[in-house]
Amino acid sequence: ASFDNAGLHPAMLNNVKLAGYETPTPIQRYCLPAIKMGYDVVAVAQTGSGKTAAYLIPILNALMGKAKKLAAPRPNPAAFREGVDQAVRAEPLVVIVCPSRELAVQVFSEARKFCYRTMLRPCVIYGGGPAMEQRAQLQKGCDILISSPGRLIDFMNDTRLLTLRRVRYMVLDEADEMLHDDWKGDFDIIMSGGGELFHDESKSSSYIEEGNIRYMLFSATFPKQFRDLAKNHLAETHVRLR
Ligand code: AMP
Repeated sequence: ASFDNAGLHPAMLNNVKLAGYETPTPIQRYCLPAIKMGYDVVAVAQTGSGKTAAYLIPILNALMGKAKKLAAPRPNPAAFREGVDQAVRAEPLVVIVCPSRELAVQVFSEARKFCYRTMLRPCVIYGGGPAMEQRAQLQKGCDILISSPGRLIDFMNDTRLLTLRRVRYMVLDEADEMLHDDWKGDFDIIMSGGGELFHDESKSSSYIEEGNIRYMLFSATFPKQFRDLAKNHLAETHVRLR
């Protein structure tokens, strides 16, 4: 198996080569076709398995094919400089939730490689980081949002800054880390997508329709909570590796 016959968009194939990846790792061999076919995915994967690229490559690849149709209206930088806020609101197509700043930054650097020379713009935000700077980043446009759960929820509360109404893919990376006490509430809010989280009062018809979000759950372990969660929230779970 090689990336050459994985049906990748030429820009993506080029970026994969630039990254120096020649053959897909086992988790990538499972995830590429599963995500391409539109499955929700639960993957039990350790760091080092190539899990990040296993979701980034097929997700970004799917968006590239429809870049024109899906690309967010480009915000107006001049308006932004003048402080006109209505011109700029982040409407990401992909949200990747990471339990730690380290992981978020790592995923962001991987996402940047695969977004090179595409219309897709990645952004990273996390708690403890400079909120003003992160807001400014978002307001320049954001297609791929990589965030810690807390910061995501904070920023979502400002509907002029961020809306999830266009989200197509929701990835929870190191999801088992987010089941721990402090995060549990955030995790539940995020997983209840389609409910309040994605409902945008300012739009008469929600862009997101039932079943339009694909969920990807990556985790080093597969506790009972996930089996329940998968049953309750995921349409068709496909990938399970040990
Ligand atoms: P991860 O499990 O996502 O943390 O990735 C572990 C490391 O493997 C990262 O440094 C990746 O850049 C690298 N990597 C991921 N996929 C491949 C691949 N197909 N070929 C070579 N290196 C890879």
